[in-house]
Amino acid sequence: MSTPYPQHPLSRDALARELKGHGLKPTEQRLRVAEILMSSPTHMTAEQILAAVRQGGRRVSKATVYNTLKALAESRLVRQIHLDPERSVYDSTRAPHHHFHDIDTGELCDIHPDDISFSRFPQLPEGMEAEAVEVVIRIKRKRVTASE
Ligand SMILES: [Zn+2]
Repeated sequence: MSTPYPQHPLSRDALARELKGHGLKPTEQRLRVAEILMSSPTHMTAEQILAAVRQGGRRVSKATVYNTLKALAESRLVRQIHLDPERSVYDSTRAPHHHFHDIDTGELCDIHPDDISFSRFPQLPEGMEAEAVEVVIRIKRKRVTASE
């Protein structure tokens, strides 16, 4: 499946500029997290990112990685998608888009915004405006029974 907005791999310098542009000091550890998460379109859990940062024997605390992810998400450099109360996934594609969520594997797959349209949309509460509409379609493999 293709990604809705292909991103070109970002160099370390480009990532440092992105961080600075969003008011984040490009520390070595932040750059490392940004490199893993933001250099190509991907969906990763905090645990996966932590494991990737630690690859090659780097000593980085879990708190540092989690705080960096929080800062990146708050600055909207990445998007945090809450799949369930215990698990969220960080998405490097910043433009609004939709997802298939495979409930067996936990994997997320992008759906292009043009592939979903709404014929009905609820009236927004008084004084509110829509910030984004993001659909998650939960999928599972069809069970094949012996009679089929
Ligand atoms: Zn996505």
